[in-house]
Amino acid sequence: MSTLEDYPKIAAGKVRELHAVDDEHLLLVASDRISAYDFVLDSPIPDKGRVLTAMSVFWFELLADIVPNHLVAWDDPRIPAEVRGRALLVRRLDMLAVEAVARGYLAGSGTRDYERTGAVCGIELPPGLVEGSELPEPIYTPATKAPIGEHDENVTFAEVAEVIGVELATEVRDLTITVYAKAADHARRHGIILADTKFEFGLLNGRVVLGDEVLTPDSSRYWPVETYAPGKAQLSYDKQFVRDWLTSPESGWDRAGNTPPPPLPAEVVAATRARYIQAYEQVTGRKFADWIG
Ligand code: ATP
Ligand code: MG
Repeated sequence: MSTLEDYPKIAAGKVRELHAVDDEHLLLVASDRISAYDFVLDSPIPDKGRVLTAMSVFWFELLADIVPNHLVAWDDPRIPAEVRGRALLVRRLDMLAVEAVARGYLAGSGTRDYERTGAVCGIELPPGLVEGSELPEPIYTPATKAPIGEHDENVTFAEVAEVIGVELATEVRDLTITVYAKAADHARRHGIILADTKFEFGLLNGRVVLGDEVLTPDSSRYWPVETYAPGKAQLSYDKQFVRDWLTSPESGWDRAGNTPPPPLPAEVVAATRARYIQAYEQVTGRKFADWIG
């Protein structure tokens, strides 16, 4: 049985770590860390790493007929016991330097772009849209990967084409929209709006392959259908309890200041954990108790 020490850590993000298994394989390890308002919080959410890993696996399987992916195994002797259930053994890809974002709704940086220019990433949109509006059709709004601590920057299709070539850029764009459409349709039939999501693709033997995590609440905006109402920031399916508490007087935290947020109370942690599990079960129709780990 392997241990994590056998595999050199080659990268660490805010909530995940990447280890080298061999020349062809990597281990993608999801932690229980959670971020909110651009801070990684001191309080982990127990099982979050397992929930998001299980969710990625569900989506890789559902989407396998429309796009090849990097997933090799989630239950395998090469996966150390200490990270079982929250680690994926994947094929090492040559990652394309583009965050492939699809949006079916206006939110976040998309709204800010739109309010300034009437367009998102150079894609003209009809007038009169507001935060949360459904778009006439899903759009592809690529971004460049920002160095740690900085925000990704929205770019146009032409700018992506300059970096990776027009042929690859087109393939990535078309895949992004196709995959988003299928996932959003699935989610909608389960009572959840998939407002937008980010994919990362890479090359394997010249083929475009879907990598990273897919369609998790960390890479996507999931909104409950029941509370959806354009014209304001939408409630987040997974992080709402955290946000509500952090911005309540009770937390004593000043969002406008530069101080990191305080630790979460146990009941906020418990409610958030339950929310992640509920999201998994609602989206996938699977029981989290059946997941490994
Ligand atoms: P953050 O997401 O916290 O802003 P990040 O994207 O740098 O930061 P992670 O998402 O934790 O950090 O790290 C995952 C890294 O692994 C990303 O750089 C992603 O491009 C890379 N990656 C994902 N899948 C593969 C793969 N199959 N082969 C090579 N690299 C991969
Ligand atoms: Mg990332």
